Amino acid sequence: MAFDYFKKKLEHVLPGRVSTDRGELFCYGFDASTEQGSPAAVVRPVSTEEVCQVASYASSSGMPLIARGAGTGMTGGAVPLEKAIILSLEGMNRIIDIDSRDMVAVVEPGVINAHLQEKLEETCLFYPPDPASMKFCTLGGNVAENAGGPRAIKYGVTKDYVLGLEVVLPDGRVLMCGGRTYKGVVGYDLTRLLVGSEGTLGIITKIFLKVLPLPEETVTLLCTFSRIEDAARAVSAISSSSVLPRTLEFMDNESIRAVENYKAFNLPVHAGALLLIEVDGSHGAVRMEAEKVGDLCIAEQGDVRVAGDLFSRQRIWEARRSISPALYHIRPTKINEDIVVPRGRIPEMLQELREIAGRHDLKIANFGHAGDGNIHVNVMTDRNNEEEYRRAKEAVKEIFEAALRLGGTISGEHGVGLTKQQYVGLELSDTSLELMKKIKAAFDPRGILNPGKVFPPD
Ligand SMILES: Cc1cc2nc3c(=O)[nH]c(=O)nc-3n(C[C@H](O)[C@H](O)[C@H](O)COP(=O)(O)OP(=O)(O)OC[C@H]3O[C@@H](n4cnc5c(N)ncnc54)[C@H](O)[C@@H]3O)c2cc1C
Repeated sequence: MAFDYFKKKLEHVLPGRVSTDRGELFCYGFDASTEQGSPAAVVRPVSTEEVCQVASYASSSGMPLIARGAGTGMTGGAVPLEKAIILSLEGMNRIIDIDSRDMVAVVEPGVINAHLQEKLEETCLFYPPDPASMKFCTLGGNVAENAGGPRAIKYGVTKDYVLGLEVVLPDGRVLMCGGRTYKGVVGYDLTRLLVGSEGTLGIITKIFLKVLPLPEETVTLLCTFSRIEDAARAVSAISSSSVLPRTLEFMDNESIRAVENYKAFNLPVHAGALLLIEVDGSHGAVRMEAEKVGDLCIAEQGDVRVAGDLFSRQRIWEARRSISPALYHIRPTKINEDIVVPRGRIPEMLQELREIAGRHDLKIANFGHAGDGNIHVNVMTDRNNEEEYRRAKEAVKEIFEAALRLGGTISGEHGVGLTKQQYVGLELSDTSLELMKKIKAAFDPRGILNPGKVFPPD
């Protein structure tokens, strides 16, 4: 009854943009994790005012509301737990302003990351955060998850570029924090608090982003190692050298073979590991830096190839971005975790991962952002095989415990959502959780925004 009334009101405000079509509801019940839910409706606002109206109706009738970008989240963040309303921000996809004097871009949340990158490049500007999903994920989703990408080692992650946000609070009020300035210390930094809040505190409706000048040149190196330990040593050598590469990605043998089986990229399938390294900057300096990095890899028995043109560069990156889909050819279910350890402890973590895989007789494929200690650990299994799935889950817990033992964290970029809730208590103290719950209650006293996420289940 409450829902019918709510739906009628919404249809009045958003004519033709409220859907309860069964097929559509089914599709909006998923993201890129293994979680699934079933929403009560999908609504598609196209302005902040419409978001405000939806939020205030939801608040007054107590309907759960879930902001959604492209649904590429890896932890079930946009998956509805109970009969919730999905607020799809896909239609709010305007690049409002690109200002090369202020070096700021202002966008709506539904803009696809790669679309902004392409637009900026036309005027020699640059927005560094580059999640592997950049061709289809939204900037709103990136802010809500504080997404990172290969370039984070040199340029940082989403939070380092968000200057300001316009946010609709669950009761329909609009909150503006930060803006076009590069600095600002008046009051608590609510912008930073909202970045990475996984849609639990407010609905992001406008984003002010810092942009940089486009580097003059980028050189891409593909370095192959017969042993993963040598690759790990090369990473340490590069990290402590005077060169700060813009990417320092690694793939283990399992990932290399999965990608090559998926699509013939001509990757070295017998290599123990490979590093995908890029350096960028001004002409001249870049060549020298590339040479230095190449020498460091050779000193650790690496075989170094330089991508000679844009085509080979794009092909190498296409191979890197294909890892996720390629892994499904190993086993039908992929439990993708994104642990981080202090950079110097990557070799120990890789050893732990080998032992865990052996102990549980599972295939675990590892790749990721070696430059910042962020390893994407993919436990390959089959959800329909109860016994194997149980072993996989045990392995995941041990992986988290190992990462924390080594001084790391259980998530570097994918967030908690639903899939990591039960492990949050391993990392956060009761005091942290208590404070976070109070913050949640201050923003969302009725608990309607993305309920049941992030915090450990009661
Ligand atoms: C193949 C693949 C590769 C990936 N690679 C990376 C990677 O390299 N780095 C990385 O960090 N992530 C990566 N991801 C994960 C994912 O793409 C990112 O988390 C991305 O930021 C999610 O954006 P989205 O638009 O799909 O958000 P969704 O999945 O729709 O939502 C994610 C969360 O954000 C919230 N949200 C979305 N929009 C808003 C809004 N406007 N206001 C408030 N809350 C909102 C949702 O409620 C949800 O909690 C990858 C995913 C895939 C499938």
